[in-house]
Amino acid sequence: MTESQDSATGEGHGGGLPLAEARRRILDEVAPLAGREQVPLGRALGRVLAENIYAPLDVPGADNAAMDGYAVRSADVPAEGAVTLREVGCVLAGQARQQPLAAGECVRIMTGAPVPPGADAVIMQEEVGLMDEAEVVVPGPLAPGTNVRRAGEDLAAGSVALGAGRRLRPQEVGVLGSLGRVEVAVHRRPVVAFLSTGDELCSPGQTPGPGQIHDSNRHLIGAALRALRVQAVDGGILGDDVGALKAALGEAGCYADAVITTGGVSVGEADTVKEAVECAGDVAFWRVAMRPGRPLAFGRVGQSVFFGLPGNPVSAAATFYQLVQPALRRLMGEAGTLQPVQLPVIAAERLRKRPGRTEFQRGILEPGADGAVQVRSTGAQGSGMLTSLVHADCLIVLEAERGDVAAGETVQVQPLEGLQR
Ligand code: AMP
Ligand code: MG
Repeated sequence: MTESQDSATGEGHGGGLPLAEARRRILDEVAPLAGREQVPLGRALGRVLAENIYAPLDVPGADNAAMDGYAVRSADVPAEGAVTLREVGCVLAGQARQQPLAAGECVRIMTGAPVPPGADAVIMQEEVGLMDEAEVVVPGPLAPGTNVRRAGEDLAAGSVALGAGRRLRPQEVGVLGSLGRVEVAVHRRPVVAFLSTGDELCSPGQTPGPGQIHDSNRHLIGAALRALRVQAVDGGILGDDVGALKAALGEAGCYADAVITTGGVSVGEADTVKEAVECAGDVAFWRVAMRPGRPLAFGRVGQSVFFGLPGNPVSAAATFYQLVQPALRRLMGEAGTLQPVQLPVIAAERLRKRPGRTEFQRGILEPGADGAVQVRSTGAQGSGMLTSLVHADCLIVLEAERGDVAAGETVQVQPLEGLQR
């Protein structure tokens, strides 16, 4: 790729390659995977539609009652005063009355039951007066269509109910059910291999030796991948050994659609990812103007898209959500901008920020005195402090050029509920 020769990419941009530019370059390199499969509705959640879903029928299929009450001819009901109608039958949900309603008649009807021919309104049962001998007193006025759900008002037959490229949430799965679908075509799940690098790392379950720490990144990234419904393949921990890393990347590049490493991409002496991918792939090393998470490697290793994320856990998480997740969503066939959702809120307190890089501070949303949403910081923002993300319910996105933020200023936030699937 062209950037790979450009090892100085980002220089001349002050703090490095602008984040939006990094995201654009990454998305430009990634195309939806061609493979697709049929899945039953019970396994469709979180998958991405590979076909347009047309409504084969009107939803609802017929005009029906929105309330329990009486189906009437609205023309029978006076604008003032009341009319006494004769109750000639009852329709429950699941039944259908064919016989048309004649003038002066009404039919008891339950929510969801088709409105009989001739009737054009439903009066709530709480609003009528009941007399002996099946007589019902209906007060006016009653406009045509009152308490009637129209055939096709939710979906008209032949219309596109769900477009290809849509990620299926519970409500989309529900709509598929309402259309009578048993299964749907979805994009195949990308295989994503992820591994940690660093001589200092040991796995949970092992006792850290002197100078060692437990590996957190692989568990965070693995969980984020599973939440995204890709096929996550745990490549384990690799030491800072160029040979071993080269072999591992070479192998992953043969079977995976994407490979993610953490650690070893900064300028430290043991930063081996650089050396390893120089042989195994075509990878550019960027200094992205974001904080946390400045160093990033991106390119191809074998048949895989490659992401080398920084080692500090919050940096790994931030680069994953800002740059890797949009790319994986595109690989999965998801349509649209794929940008994390951002909303403006008021800063509840002063936020420290140096101009130069886009910052992702960890924040807590809360209602202000006037009821408007405001955000405060979780406190210390070290990129090694993973608990800052645990305490957070959003990322406060402070634009690169911005300096300190005063209390009361508007800032953008990315709610974690939307960012984390
Ligand atoms: P590196 O990017 O390899 O220079 O690592 C930066 C910092 O992140 C160092 O303090 C590493 O010990 C730490 N680190 C790297 N990988 C992990 C990991 N998988 N889990 C926790 N901390 C890590
Ligand atoms: Mg390292």
